[in-house]
Amino acid sequence: MKLYSTKNFQSTSVSFEEALFKGLPEDNGLYLPKSWPRLSDSFWKNISSLSFQEIAFHMASALLKDEIDEAQLKGIIYSALDFPVVQSRLSDRLHCLELYHGPSLAFKDFGARFMAHTMSHFLKRNKQVINILVATSGDTGSAVAQGFYNLPGITVTILYPSGKVSHLQELQLTTLGGNVRAIEVDGTFDDCQALVKQAFLDRELNTKMNLSSANSINIGRLIPQSFYYAESYARLQSAGRPMAFVVPSGNFGNLCGGLIARNLGMPVHEFIAATNINDVVPQYLSTGIYKSRPSVPTLSNAMDVGNPSNFPRMTQFFDNDHESVTKVVKGCTANDEQTMSTIHEMYQRYGYIACPHTAVALKCGTLFHDNNSDTNVVALGTAHPAKFKETVDKALRQDIELPQPLLDVQSKTKEATLIDNDYKAFKDYLTQL
Ligand SMILES: *Cc1c(COP(=O)(O)O)cnc(C)c1O
Repeated sequence: MKLYSTKNFQSTSVSFEEALFKGLPEDNGLYLPKSWPRLSDSFWKNISSLSFQEIAFHMASALLKDEIDEAQLKGIIYSALDFPVVQSRLSDRLHCLELYHGPSLAFKDFGARFMAHTMSHFLKRNKQVINILVATSGDTGSAVAQGFYNLPGITVTILYPSGKVSHLQELQLTTLGGNVRAIEVDGTFDDCQALVKQAFLDRELNTKMNLSSANSINIGRLIPQSFYYAESYARLQSAGRPMAFVVPSGNFGNLCGGLIARNLGMPVHEFIAATNINDVVPQYLSTGIYKSRPSVPTLSNAMDVGNPSNFPRMTQFFDNDHESVTKVVKGCTANDEQTMSTIHEMYQRYGYIACPHTAVALKCGTLFHDNNSDTNVVALGTAHPAKFKETVDKALRQDIELPQPLLDVQSKTKEATLIDNDYKAFKDYLTQL
């Protein structure tokens, strides 16, 4: 697979390995494959006989077989994606694809673990070591930390804003130990991000430490997010109805994963881009005008994004033609009030407990359903409801149970180094290791 930058199709093409470690091309575009291999018709026709890992292997192999040999790729898939994808049937034509049964209890585990294991594969081959730096406001940090945990040749440093992540999230970030270290910054998330950015621009530090990022726009995180769409298709294929996926979106990496599956040949009717009131993409879909703006806080806070980083990638799938985009991707928005009432309604009607992000998708899925009665609608469930216990308890007026990984983490002791929001302090911490 050769990749180019969305800013310039003529740009020199790079290998997957190079795109994986670089993250971003120098022109600040985003990496995308120059051409898409299509999986055979018989693969899609017989897909229901395959397991999730087998499906993932075939898709990954179509894209990466010239760089990672098949046996090694199989090893990566089976160790990175060793947790279940669960498709819950809510009603005859409404399903929830639960993507939160991995170690950090959010769908970001798919991307973070696959990226970590492919990086580790190349590092072993080249006998190199790297230092991953990541700033987090919550979910990303714990998926990345879990993804790289105990992988040889890699050290992970996580920066998070002191007092600004939930207690459970903080414990998820600070109790792993091993090759994962947490820095608690006396500042905001933006301060954490600025420190990481400055470290990457610091030549001296880079030469010394071989720094790498685990940014959400990394192509290594995007590819595995196509696998579970095909898994969902496989389990619903026998119904023989057109399928629509509702994707609760912030930076639109998840939705781009769906577009990858489609480009590999997966039959799909539509994608619904579901957002909270940070709705720049639904606005673009209905007007053709893209206008970023500062984000506003909502209950589905992992989707509070005012300038989605994957937006240029999403439109590039359609040669940046607005009309072509809108044939495949529809927009839908749900506000906090609708989010709360949907959490309540889904539990009342189907006994299903949704996190606020999943609830946005379920609200949009229900609306879509009312107008498209012969379609199988699959809403993507992106986080375990217990990660947002306060909101969910309030919507259901009850005290929901914590799953085992969150119970386990509560008995552990936080280990983090508190530093001032100061680059020198951060650099001293990094270099004294
Ligand atoms: C990150 C995240 C999202 C948004 O996913 P994007 O790929 O950024 O669109 C939705 N829900 C949850 C729970 C998340 O953590």
